[in-house]
Amino acid sequence: MTELVVPIFASDSASVISQAEAAAAAGADVVELRLDLCDPGICKELINQIKTLALPAIVTNRSPAEGGSSRLSDSERLQLLLDADQAGAAWIDVELSCLEQLPARPQRARLILSYHDFKGMGDDLAGKIMAMLSAEADVAKLAVTPADAGDLAIIETLYQQAPHGRLTAIAMGEEGLPSRLLAGAWGAAFTYAALDDDHDTAPGQPSVRSLIDTYRIHEQGPSTCIFGVIGDPVAHSLSPIIHNAGFAHLDMDAVYVPFLVHDARDFWSRCGAWIDGLSITIPHKHALLDSVNEYEDLVSVTSAMNTIYRTEDKLIGANTDATAALLCVQEQAGSLEEKRCLILGAGGVSRAIAHTMHSAHARVFITNRTMERAEQLARDVGCKTMTLEDAVQEDWDIIINGTSVGMNSDESPWPADRHRTGRIVFDTVYTPLETRLLLDAQSAGSFPVCGLSMFLIQAYQQFERWTNTFAPEAAMRRAVLEKLGLDPELFGTVGKNNTACWNNGV
Ligand code: NAP
Repeated sequence: MTELVVPIFASDSASVISQAEAAAAAGADVVELRLDLCDPGICKELINQIKTLALPAIVTNRSPAEGGSSRLSDSERLQLLLDADQAGAAWIDVELSCLEQLPARPQRARLILSYHDFKGMGDDLAGKIMAMLSAEADVAKLAVTPADAGDLAIIETLYQQAPHGRLTAIAMGEEGLPSRLLAGAWGAAFTYAALDDDHDTAPGQPSVRSLIDTYRIHEQGPSTCIFGVIGDPVAHSLSPIIHNAGFAHLDMDAVYVPFLVHDARDFWSRCGAWIDGLSITIPHKHALLDSVNEYEDLVSVTSAMNTIYRTEDKLIGANTDATAALLCVQEQAGSLEEKRCLILGAGGVSRAIAHTMHSAHARVFITNRTMERAEQLARDVGCKTMTLEDAVQEDWDIIINGTSVGMNSDESPWPADRHRTGRIVFDTVYTPLETRLLLDAQSAGSFPVCGLSMFLIQAYQQFERWTNTFAPEAAMRRAVLEKLGLDPELFGTVGKNNTACWNNGV
């Protein structure tokens, strides 16, 4: 089983002891005592405490040449590792480049040989692993720096080739995060996690609780199915929370991770083979259209794809944003026939919504910052455009924000003094839940519908395509609401029978 390692360091031994206790309480299996990050004056004292730590310890004394902070000479630095061996360390971590300077082999501790590249993916990684294992390392450890998530293909291949449980290959930074989250599925010896957000020792380190609770690291294995979301940015995405909650609830052997992808086509061509299903978010919804064998109808008409799923012999593209948005509006408006609907925006989401609203016989108008894009979309859909200046003078039954305006800001794409009573105002943005657009709409007596409902419904529909199973909606919804700090009891109906977020849920 992949062991979960929490690096610890401090300026006094009492703190090291209490961090080890906290790591054990959080569910870690091993601590890594980073001597190079501790006060040099207390290293000997810390080594003498190793046996009293709450967890077995890897002892590391990293040189600056490999990203560490030790100010000792190599011989002093390595001697401390041998002292740690004598004092009861479970493992010592020695850089492959310094192996020849190690005065003796550890007698009790097991040996990790390591290699780091903080600028790139290094070269001849397979050769380095061979060299480490031939030098009788118990575990070969690599930490390299990917330029894009596509480089995870290199890491995955190394795991395929290495003896099970003898390799830890970490891709650093946010682009490499899945190498830590998938460590159990890939058969890693260790994965490294931060005790909490204040104690990370390397870029892209997740917290120990997220590895256990969200990514179920201890339950992963070689048969674990791998799903994920590609986006740029992607760190804000709630998709790992909602889908992993669904897998856990149904006790499925599956995990879902965020991939920070700059080049979607490169990523999919290199990593697609080991990914069982994909969510696609901004800005990649058009990028993989020719990477699938078939589309569902909504992808054909919208040219936007937010989901890839597999059947026995095919890859199929789907668009669950479009149907989710339609359901949200219909839940409030009932029949859309002849309803006057204004869509703000002409990007991927607006395109999907325009098609489905038009198919539901609403009278759809589109406005956008770049009016040429609005006109192109209107031609494609068979609806009309209007400038914002004209649109604010008109009567609307439904206004839908498909722009990113209001995302993580207090801005609104619609003037506050141009709201009216009785309208449905739907914001696809859901960070924050209560956008300025919706708050203004509510103050004016309109009916606000928040984008979280659409997010939930599009996720349920993805989950069902990947698993051929009904999505456990209550468990998935609960996980998202808890993550957002909302009381699931109060918001229990969001995205189910009632899409309005705060006023109807409470
Ligand atoms: P997109 O293809 O990049 O389109 C972005 C749209 O926003 C374009 O119409 C763009 O206008 C407009 N825009 C961006 N910045 C603007 C500004 N400062 N002022 C005015 N208009 C601006 O993105 P998308 O995929 O359609 O996603 C749009 C939003 O939908 C996202 O931000 C997200 O919050 C939301 N969304 C929600 C869900 C959900 O489940 N609730 C799912 C997906 C997306 P131009 O054409 O002039 O550039």
